[in-house]
Amino acid sequence: MTPDFYTDLTTDSLNGKLLDGATSLRILEDQDIDLFPLLNAAYTVRKEYWGKEVQIHILNNAQNGHCPEDCSYCSQAKTADTDIESYRMKPDAEILDEARLAYESGAHRYCMVFAGRGPSDKRTAHLAGLIRKIKSRYPLEICVSAGLLDEDKARVLAEAGLNRFNHNLNTSERNYPNICTTHTYSDRLDTLKAARNSGLQVCSGLIVGMGETRAELLEVANTLRELNAESIPVNFFLPLPGTELEPTQDLTPDYCLRVLCLFRFLNPKAEIRAAAGREVYFRSLEPMCLYPANSVFLQGYLNARGGERKQTLQMILDAGFTIKSEVPLEELMEREKSQANQLVDSKGRLNVLKTESELRPARNLVDA
Ligand code: SF4
Repeated sequence: MTPDFYTDLTTDSLNGKLLDGATSLRILEDQDIDLFPLLNAAYTVRKEYWGKEVQIHILNNAQNGHCPEDCSYCSQAKTADTDIESYRMKPDAEILDEARLAYESGAHRYCMVFAGRGPSDKRTAHLAGLIRKIKSRYPLEICVSAGLLDEDKARVLAEAGLNRFNHNLNTSERNYPNICTTHTYSDRLDTLKAARNSGLQVCSGLIVGMGETRAELLEVANTLRELNAESIPVNFFLPLPGTELEPTQDLTPDYCLRVLCLFRFLNPKAEIRAAAGREVYFRSLEPMCLYPANSVFLQGYLNARGGERKQTLQMILDAGFTIKSEVPLEELMEREKSQANQLVDSKGRLNVLKTESELRPARNLVDA
């Protein structure tokens, strides 16, 4: 591939020109398109909007398990046979304490995740009160993931000060019935439109590797472009013990990086997150994900562990990036101690499900 090919990718993306379908698919498939110049082309776009800053996110499972939906990739689904710690919504005091911990850990955004189909009117009002309390205490941006939402409820949350609503498209419209039967792709799209119409920022992404074709992956990226999603978590399917969905695709580091590059070219201004699966699928190329993506989770995912917090910060520091935080990266590194939060246990088995103390850190502190 000539150098012009890569330069054109960057220029077209920066000029807001939609990449044509054939070129988009080649980015995913064609080994004549070399990975490093491709990463550099995506990095040039990333740098234009985000510089060398990495947004770090911390997820708080404010309610875990007890979900009536049947998403076959999810350890909280009613159909999953998982050994997760289930609990109803955490008390406000515990959530507030975790917001404080997130703030002190250097996060500028606090994400609360509630399992379930969607909030009732009563739950929506409760959430609005909680958002007001967090906002009055900490200078954090708040993101909520709470399932399906209509415009009235979205407006209540927006008026309380919620910044962003997360609801992932997950996969293509064609593939959706293969991963979930209790709600549809359209239900998800309608929720995103309700959030947008209520003035909320939209966070929506996908889980790569759940049986979608490459053309469908492209379709999702373009739908998120049309929605003008401010934040796009690109997850890579982690088959957790006890969940129904079987892995069908081989996710190589090369492919995963190409996916991130494609999402960057198609959504040049978006916060693109190398999300779940980062530590598993990128392997030795993990730091390379910071070139197309500008955001990572600091310490793992809903019920699955990620890399050690310290390891993530060290990767950012070593690769020459900075973080968006009131606390300098070097100072955060000093605070971090090596914890027994490894992906592989002492017997070499994959050690992926979080424990109670990881899911409810604030309560753990109180008990201690
Ligand atoms: S993804 Fe959300 S809606 Fe689906 S089963 Fe899991 S918690 Fe429930």
